[in-house]
Amino acid sequence: MLSDSLAERLREILGHANLLLDPADCWTYGFDNSRRQLSPLAVAFPTTSDQIGQLIATARNNRIALVPRGSGTGTTGGAVPVENSIVMALERMDSIIDIDPGNRTMHVQPGVINDAVQQAAAEHGLFWAPDPGSSAFCTVGGNLAFNAAGPRAVKYGTTRENVLGLKAITGAGKEIVTGTNTTKGVVGYDLTRLIIGSEGTLAVITEATLKLLPLPESRRTVMASYASIDAATRAIISIMTQPVMPCAVEFIDRPAIDMIRDFSDADLPQHAGALLMVEVDGAVDCLDSSVQSVSAALNNDGLLEQRIATTEAESRQLWATRKALSPALRKIAPNKLNEDVVVPVTRIPDLIHGIERLSEQYHLSIVNFGHAGNGNIHVNLLYDNTDPAQDASARQCLRSLFTLVLELGGTLSGEHGIGIEKRDYISQEIDTASLDLMRKLKTVFDPDNILNPGKIFPSP
Ligand SMILES: Cc1cc2nc3c(=O)[nH]c(=O)nc-3n(C[C@H](O)[C@H](O)[C@H](O)COP(=O)(O)OP(=O)(O)OC[C@H]3O[C@@H](n4cnc5c(N)ncnc54)[C@H](O)[C@@H]3O)c2cc1C
Repeated sequence: MLSDSLAERLREILGHANLLLDPADCWTYGFDNSRRQLSPLAVAFPTTSDQIGQLIATARNNRIALVPRGSGTGTTGGAVPVENSIVMALERMDSIIDIDPGNRTMHVQPGVINDAVQQAAAEHGLFWAPDPGSSAFCTVGGNLAFNAAGPRAVKYGTTRENVLGLKAITGAGKEIVTGTNTTKGVVGYDLTRLIIGSEGTLAVITEATLKLLPLPESRRTVMASYASIDAATRAIISIMTQPVMPCAVEFIDRPAIDMIRDFSDADLPQHAGALLMVEVDGAVDCLDSSVQSVSAALNNDGLLEQRIATTEAESRQLWATRKALSPALRKIAPNKLNEDVVVPVTRIPDLIHGIERLSEQYHLSIVNFGHAGNGNIHVNLLYDNTDPAQDASARQCLRSLFTLVLELGGTLSGEHGIGIEKRDYISQEIDTASLDLMRKLKTVFDPDNILNPGKIFPSP
């Protein structure tokens, strides 16, 4: 319950129009895509850095937590309130401050939607590489806090590789300016890369300098279907060892193909054990030879069929297959566990075989697809979480999956982050000394533990 004096202080800082206090209104800011929900005491919509500084000072004085929030599309509970917390919704700080085509940079506030960045950059023949599937809704602040990425990451990198600098306010209330406006720079520790991916636990990002890239002249998509998973995973390795770097290498396994077939009118080859979607981009003159190189790499004794799109419309049709997957999955198993593990590309075959074994051992349907060029596979455990036996089995299976991934030299999350969902697994990957150092860094940035507590670190 918010005290009258604290409510009054929040009104002084933000004004009536930028504050929600009614529990019914606050409830609508209590969730994200993890399906967790908890109502905050209030929702604050700061519109300036100064207001953020004052909110942090007030939260420290009153020992109340602040939970930064973009659009709430995160899948691991990063933006979900904790007990006794105020949500700091950054959605009204949504200005593109400037675009500098000569230096290929854009300065933005954190609440700008990813697609708005892309549209503004495209007017200058540029783009920003991070392309999460949620780009129509998610904010740059959320992209930075989770180091988000999509299919293009295989060629252009994740958010971390595409941000030059930041302005942020730490949990101690200090405004910091990190990084540079230039694409080279090596002065001091790299605080930009530390804050990116820190899930709102160290500082509130108030501005970012995005690194833009020239839009490719054209792109071509190839879809290849294989008789078996083995053949498809061999093709992934061949793709990554030939000289043309594709801008997407997406993988879909047999259960996922069956699901797409059942829930859409996609025309997919019968008996396919796995599908690959590969895209190349670049100058028009070079595309034919790039497609040839990729097509040769895709060809092996398990290849059933290759379709090469020659027009934008054909390309969109091929991608519609991949896009049909998420809605189909949500329909079949609304309570699925959707993991985003990563292994070195050459270990993808071992991962997929290991997952098949886990599926048998725990009697669970498991559907796999994802950004194979980065070794980033979305492993979906389909089960009914209202059945205690299935729920327990899925949780055990998840721990075994993480053990397998780490044995293969991988990591627990490629893009969704840790949040609340995976904090009890983080010590499976991060050694004690490193975790202790991370806890100390948290204390330096946020001495009173007011910024997004209860996230990332294992529960006590
Ligand atoms: C349909 C769908 C598809 C998706 N596809 C992808 C995908 O392809 N790739 C991918 O990486 N993710 C994907 N996601 C996950 C999610 O969209 C991304 O993680 C996105 O970056 C979250 O942005 P958001 O604005 O919704 O952030 P939120 O969910 O609101 O917050 C995410 C985290 O950022 C913190 N935060 C937000 N703003 C700030 C700030 N200004 N300063 C400090 N911390 C802040 C929050 O505290 C929280 O910890 C998908 C989600 C959905 C629902």
